[in-house]
Amino acid sequence: MVDRGIVRILVTEEEIKRVVKRLGAEVTAFYGQRDKRDTDLLVIGLLRGSFVFMADLVREIKLPLTVDFMALSSYGDGTTSSGDVKVVMDLDTSVEKRDVLIVEDIVDTGRTFSKVIRMLKNRNPRSLRVCTFLNKPESRVVDVKVDFCGVDIPNEFVVGYGLDYAQEYRNLPYIGVLDQALL
Ligand code: 5GP
Repeated sequence: MVDRGIVRILVTEEEIKRVVKRLGAEVTAFYGQRDKRDTDLLVIGLLRGSFVFMADLVREIKLPLTVDFMALSSYGDGTTSSGDVKVVMDLDTSVEKRDVLIVEDIVDTGRTFSKVIRMLKNRNPRSLRVCTFLNKPESRVVDVKVDFCGVDIPNEFVVGYGLDYAQEYRNLPYIGVLDQALL
């Protein structure tokens, strides 16, 4: 059954599981190739949207790691990016000399990733990679290199699996397209 306000399911629960497993394996292979004693993996989730994906992803990464979170705001309660990305809550841990993996729910214009990458590079991590569950290649305004990418989707407003509209829908277990009439 499709939930209220959802017109179409874009990524089903089963597909999400497959994608997360694949991404976990890619991340594990990438960092596992290095000398394990040397790798000091810090996985950073961007709140709030990434919290569900982050929880699933870290359990598919078969390496020692620590986690931290950052909160950024760009959208408010609307659906169009303001382009003005603000840090609402900063990290608790230092990234210096660490292998940092930033985890995002969705890359749209690329502004959020670009801002976070610039900010964290200034703090001298040993390495910095980015992972997103969803990617909207058509809406890119700022060029960002995504190292680990889940699913490319068209330029439509989606909710579920951590993604919200006006703070609702984050608990849907799938990715769905929201009824335009609600936006
Ligand atoms: P960017 O800075 O790349 O334009 O946007 C990234 C942020 O915009 C995401 O973390 C997310 O909060 C929001 N966003 C972009 N597209 C969507 C969408 O289709 N649905 C929802 N719920 N949020 C989106």
